Amino acid sequence: MDYKLLTPGPLTTTQTVKQAMMVDHCTWDEEYKTITQEIRQKLLSLAGASPVEYTTILMQGSGSFGVESVLSSVIGPTDHVLVCVNGAYGRRMVSMCERHHLAYSVYEVAEDEIPQATDIKSILVNDPTISALAMVHSETTSGILNELEEIAALAKDNELLFIVDAMSSFGGIPIDVTALSIDFLVSSSNKCIQGVPGFSFTLAKRAQLEQRTEFSRTVSLDLYDQYETMEKDGKWRFTSPTHTVLAFHQALKELDAEGGIYQRYMRYLTNNRLLRQKMSELGYQPFIKQHQGPFITSFLYPKQSAFNFDHFYQHLKQNGFVIYPGKISSVDCFRIGNIGEIYPEDIDQLVKVIENYSEVAYVS
Ligand SMILES: *Cc1c(COP(=O)(O)O)cnc(C)c1O
Repeated sequence: MDYKLLTPGPLTTTQTVKQAMMVDHCTWDEEYKTITQEIRQKLLSLAGASPVEYTTILMQGSGSFGVESVLSSVIGPTDHVLVCVNGAYGRRMVSMCERHHLAYSVYEVAEDEIPQATDIKSILVNDPTISALAMVHSETTSGILNELEEIAALAKDNELLFIVDAMSSFGGIPIDVTALSIDFLVSSSNKCIQGVPGFSFTLAKRAQLEQRTEFSRTVSLDLYDQYETMEKDGKWRFTSPTHTVLAFHQALKELDAEGGIYQRYMRYLTNNRLLRQKMSELGYQPFIKQHQGPFITSFLYPKQSAFNFDHFYQHLKQNGFVIYPGKISSVDCFRIGNIGEIYPEDIDQLVKVIENYSEVAYVS
């Protein structure tokens, strides 16, 4: 059955992105390696990063593989990483630190709050051993958008290695990687660039990467080894997701055709504002009151005790839309994403379907 994905990724892609996958490529082929190199360069230019200062490393697997690749490859034996947590993706980074026996501390705030630079500052004063800082930009758990600027400045002033999971934000909102002096930024093929799942990418400050060549705790996710091989001629170390790479290459062209990241951000923002406004007219309350991001929104279950997510989900699916269950620890929510090949007309249509559901739900 055909439906649109109102999820945080994989998301609805264009026909032309899907069609780009109708070719079987050889991983040794020059043409294919050139595509890899073009993708790496294009991602740097989207981030406004100079190819002298930064590089891009593509890594097989979903986004989490990319985050784990960075954490398990760049945190050295004498490092101590402070992980900021306000949702499940921050907590996932903590699990990775634990699994790899990294020295780490956790700074956690509520899921509807953002990490504060002032708090981090006092943590640093109390613990001068902290040498790295890891945080999520858009916490997809709730849809909150964490602020990077002040924390980035703090990381820079204190010479902390700064690692950002920008999985669900990169490509969908301008992020000035150079100005923020981000050392490692991770995102993936199936989020705001609007490709299909299969690999993650890391924008890395070369100087930091070159100092961190021997720390990797795994073979497959060794960020430096992958970089060294890829840097030669665009060859990935192990089998790469060839079809996904072709789709991503096409998706990057379509991002340009849309007018670039700022234009895409405006589309997402328009979708999101429309969604929240119309949902509130129907009586659905958002979980996030402040710092709502433009990508995905958590809505509280309506007050009626009869609300059943599965029933709601099936109704929407039968009417052409798939949404996401909630992920907030303390309250029942569902989530609606508005990224991907989604336009205000789709939001209008979705809201009509939801309005219709509210009328029929408690009868059937
Ligand atoms: C999607 C996402 C990830 C990666 O999740 P995967 O399921 O591994 O793709 C990591 N962090 C955030 C904030 C995300 O939105």
